[in-house]
Amino acid sequence: MSIGVGVPKETVAGERRVALVPSVADRLLKLNAVVVLETGAGAGAFFADDAYAGVRTVSSVYGAADVILKVQPPSVQEVGLMREGTCLISFLAPWREPERVKRLRDRKITSFAMELIPRIARAQAMDALSSQAAVCGYRGALMGAELSGRFFPMLTTAAGTIRPATVLIIGAGVAGLHAIATARRLGAVVEAYDVRAAAKDQVISLGAKFVEFDVKAEGAGGYARELTKEEAQTQQEVLAHHIGGADVVISTAAVPGRPAPLIITEAAVALMRPGSVIVDLVADSGGNCALTRPGTRIDHQGVTIYGPLNVPSTLPVDASEMYAKNLFNFLSPMIKDGELHLNWDDEVIARSALTRDGKIVHEPTRAVVERTAA
Ligand code: NAD
Repeated sequence: MSIGVGVPKETVAGERRVALVPSVADRLLKLNAVVVLETGAGAGAFFADDAYAGVRTVSSVYGAADVILKVQPPSVQEVGLMREGTCLISFLAPWREPERVKRLRDRKITSFAMELIPRIARAQAMDALSSQAAVCGYRGALMGAELSGRFFPMLTTAAGTIRPATVLIIGAGVAGLHAIATARRLGAVVEAYDVRAAAKDQVISLGAKFVEFDVKAEGAGGYARELTKEEAQTQQEVLAHHIGGADVVISTAAVPGRPAPLIITEAAVALMRPGSVIVDLVADSGGNCALTRPGTRIDHQGVTIYGPLNVPSTLPVDASEMYAKNLFNFLSPMIKDGELHLNWDDEVIARSALTRDGKIVHEPTRAVVERTAA
């Protein structure tokens, strides 16, 4: 029996990505998988059904698949459509909706959350947080350029010389570094700041200036820790001066599993010149700016503040291509002779599992679900 891999159409409003692109479908077929696609699943990313050679299109994939590949976490109803024992690989936002996790547990779904894949060297090709953050940073810089009333590059024209725009990037993780690279390619003068001292060399290597001050907050696993109240206040005060001098601020600062830290206060926005722009790329988790309204663009005394949601979906072709490759790199080692073999001794498999055999196996999520049930 060959393993059946199913790819549903995404149902979250505005989601244009798809979990499987034609070139990756081809690689799955070569592993003797039977691949089924929900009609129109790739349409938002411009992949027509007939571009998936050798793949059957059906009205619903849930009853027919051993493995479901998805982008957005499934709704509780979608989990209900899955056969018991199905293997689900998707972003699952484990901390967001306890009801969904309970449903995955109760339907005995073996679920793997792309957010939980350990960030070890061997798993880099599976790292969907990074691939989608790269899209986010690139797009964020372009959004800043589009909303700004100024050129990014220096221009010498017959009408005079135009100075380059100053762009400040807050948070120099994957998204921030891509925002720096994109703004630099457009010719802006770029400054960047992160609480992790390790980010400094990467910022400088991309041609940006690193904003330095005393607050350092390296946390576990290469991530930042949450700042104390006093540290956060010092940070807001020191950064206000840099924010006030920027034509465009792009903020990407995040702490895993926590609301985004407040870094850009209303007082800092008041220092910005009219015509300046803030693109708050962590609006999905509350935003770095006190005035951000997630999903909305506002004008605050001449400063445009934009908190776009689900930015990777705005570049659906490449975001889907990268995500589908991440999924394939995770799934393909599990397929042997056309069948699914899960090696629970493999730390990548074990650490990315959310539910299995009717249990929540990711401890922090289990604790949250039990707390909400109590
Ligand atoms: P993230 O999305 O969790 O956060 C974005 C950035 O915000 C981080 O650089 C973080 O340090 C910064 N930040 C948090 N609080 C802040 C504050 N108060 N002020 C300023 N900046 C703040 O991060 P990410 O992009 O996922 O990357 C986190 C780390 O993981 C980095 O060290 C990155 O190099 C590393 N990483 C490793 C791998 C791998 O080894 N496979 C892959 C990707 C990323």
